[in-house]
Amino acid sequence: MSEVYVIGHKSPDTDTVCSAIVYAGLKGYKPARPGELNEETAYVLDYFKVPAPELLTDAAGKKLVLVDHNEPAQVVDGADKAEIIEVLDHHKMNFVCNTPIYIHVEPVGSTATIIAKHHMDAIKNNPTYAGLLLAAVLSDTVIFKSPTTTEEDKTIAAELAKIAGIPDVQAFGIDVKKAKASIKGKPIADVIHVDFKDYDFAGKKVGIGQTEVIDINEVYERKDDIVNYLNELKNSKGYAMVVFMATDIIKEGSELYFAGDPAMMEKAFAVKPEGPSFWLQGCMSRKKQVAPPVEKAFTS
Ligand code: MG
Ligand code: MG
Ligand code: MG
Repeated sequence: MSEVYVIGHKSPDTDTVCSAIVYAGLKGYKPARPGELNEETAYVLDYFKVPAPELLTDAAGKKLVLVDHNEPAQVVDGADKAEIIEVLDHHKMNFVCNTPIYIHVEPVGSTATIIAKHHMDAIKNNPTYAGLLLAAVLSDTVIFKSPTTTEEDKTIAAELAKIAGIPDVQAFGIDVKKAKASIKGKPIADVIHVDFKDYDFAGKKVGIGQTEVIDINEVYERKDDIVNYLNELKNSKGYAMVVFMATDIIKEGSELYFAGDPAMMEKAFAVKPEGPSFWLQGCMSRKKQVAPPVEKAFTS
């Protein structure tokens, strides 16, 4: 029997990588990642002394379990020639499969929450797994500040913290988030692509990137670079719209930069853009607060 790989989405984040590692470990599968680790995830793996999963950039001919995604545009290359045997996710479904497979989706703050909830007996004896999952919950929920956060995420995080021996969950969350919360000195393309998702909205290609910072002024200082890059990306890669959310995790809001028709952004957010960006107080989640209204603007 060919080996089964557990793999997360492109532009891998902490939830996608840690969920792949733990779920693969629990099932006797192999964890993989479709791209480079971001600094936050590298910090987490280093903290728990866990090696990075194997880099898999062509999944053709492999058996796959998809974690933390199901959108075809976000799946590892070659997946159309792979056998997907299971999907474990916390995003809206945009997945079609011509054979019956296991699909497990719950509306919670992270994929890690789902894994912890259903495998707590095994995780109880594994502080490393508990720590990885805790970091993933804190990362995806932005330390419980994101509107995607559920009571279940908080309860499970508290349980995981106990097992992992982490006394101060908030402080640990801030350490995790801090690891990539600065864009100083980084090439703007890297900043935009480190957490970037492609969507197909009514046949139109839309890309939405996000960065999380502790001080939004760092982003404002590089406004021109950002806007130029988004326009270049839109024009060179056939996007109808490219959006970049610069989220200030302290102020709890996002500056939304975009390249595309301003009328679409106005339709999506009921804000008339005065330029290539606007601030949305309380906006922290791409999944809940940005992708759905943009999709609606394109489909209605
Ligand atoms: Mg993710
Ligand atoms: Mg996730
Ligand atoms: Mg995220």
